Amino acid sequence: MKPTRVCLLDGGSLAIDGYKVYWNRGPSGDIRFPVYSVLIDHEEGLFVYDTGYDLQHMQTYVSGDQPLQTLDQTLPGQFQKLGLVPEDVTHVIDSHLHIDHCGGNKHFPNALFMVHEKEYAQAVNPELFERMSYSDLVYDPELHGMNLERGSVKPVASGSAPVAVAPKYQFLSGDVEVAKGVKLLETLGHSAGHYSLLVELAGRRPMLFTGDAAMTPRNLEMMIIGGFHLDPAKGVRALERLKSLAAEYDAELFYSHSMPEFETWRKAPEWYE
Ligand SMILES: [Zn+2]
Repeated sequence: MKPTRVCLLDGGSLAIDGYKVYWNRGPSGDIRFPVYSVLIDHEEGLFVYDTGYDLQHMQTYVSGDQPLQTLDQTLPGQFQKLGLVPEDVTHVIDSHLHIDHCGGNKHFPNALFMVHEKEYAQAVNPELFERMSYSDLVYDPELHGMNLERGSVKPVASGSAPVAVAPKYQFLSGDVEVAKGVKLLETLGHSAGHYSLLVELAGRRPMLFTGDAAMTPRNLEMMIIGGFHLDPAKGVRALERLKSLAAEYDAELFYSHSMPEFETWRKAPEWYE
């Protein structure tokens, strides 16, 4: 059995106000943060957790988040560094379906998409305040032409990114071990059906990817949820859960959107194993 290995794929960065990262705490002012995907090369398949954002979509509909993404930071660019092609990916797991976590789904024509069942239901019928976050309708090509109605910001250009194929889904609920040592752990609150990810490796401590349940270490240290959330009470419970999971597995935490940590992590073409 071949050993599991993990690679972090740099997907560029965005900038949002401090109050959106730290609810009611701030301070205000732009915080630029990384967006990345996690590639898991496993005996049972080639998995991707989160697919970042689509630059064209962000520039067109959500330019206020100031996207910066070079060609090298697109998923095809990152796969090229590894000598792989996105067509090889067998499974894509979306922690949730916000614009900065599923925007690259279109690059994986052969993958089975794994999403929390409550997340998908919410994404196709979001609360008014969530519409912009769910505005990249790549997860449902039938809705894709409705971008204009779903976004609250006037587009600065016309057209939307193409969706090649209708995605094939497996809807999940509860904690799920999707492959040996690759566990999806429910951390709800930021969105309706949010998953954090734990990966066990032979040569190092387990890696616990928080997703947006904890965007930065400060969220966890001070028990401050993000400013953007569907259910703040569940969000705080998710922070508690992340703390106890990290202790239970002796796992290293990998936050979704923290530049100082991201800069120190190993990224493509290097692997953790
Ligand atoms: Zn995010």
